[in-house]
Amino acid sequence: MADISPSPALVEKLVYANRILYDQGVVDGLGHVSVRHDTAPDVFMLSCNRAPAMVSPRDIVCYDLDGEAVSSGAERPYLERFIHSEIYRARPDVVAVVHSHSPSVIPFGVTGNRLRPIFHMAGFLGSGSSHFEISDVAGDTDMLIRNRELGRALAQSLGDCTCVLMRGHGSTVVGTSIEQVVYRAIYAEVNAKLQMNAQGMGDVRYLTTVEAGLAAATNDSQIGRSWELWRRRIGPIES
Ligand code: MN
Repeated sequence: MADISPSPALVEKLVYANRILYDQGVVDGLGHVSVRHDTAPDVFMLSCNRAPAMVSPRDIVCYDLDGEAVSSGAERPYLERFIHSEIYRARPDVVAVVHSHSPSVIPFGVTGNRLRPIFHMAGFLGSGSSHFEISDVAGDTDMLIRNRELGRALAQSLGDCTCVLMRGHGSTVVGTSIEQVVYRAIYAEVNAKLQMNAQGMGDVRYLTTVEAGLAAATNDSQIGRSWELWRRRIGPIES
């Protein structure tokens, strides 16, 4: 394998993503964010087993697409790293992944309701989220994606979507950059809250697939502004 030392700037951005997702209420002690390596596409970067708000540059580990650490002396990994490895394998277009248990999304996963774009900020949801049923694959489990087989099944359920709801567990969103996937994780949670409120008021008129696509394209050109704000709340990262 080629030199896999990742770019320090990308490592720093991944550390910011970890801390921002906590600051914005998407992850707590659990949940994680990863990014595909900038020069080795069969490698991705993810923290070792640490709460996202406490992640530092030295915690970032490189993993291969089997979920095995390729950094030497790596600390204990996250149990659910196979979410990331198998999505990177199945989706060459994906550059970053967030997995969380953000609460407003849970009712959708257990009722089989899709998340659908209720406002322009969630245009990335397109025609809606997909759904993963772990018992179809493995019967009774602790609900976690703790091996390659479950990761592969999850990636299959994700399909071409940007968001997959995991029944009784949480959700996973994908994107083409760290900034974009953090944005999507934040607004999947916001959209879920709004969608639940609106559904209680009557028939909901969601963005059409075309409207969603147009809104997503515009939002993608504006993410830098939000990222700058989210980052400022974190302050400087120690090296
Ligand atoms: Mn989980």
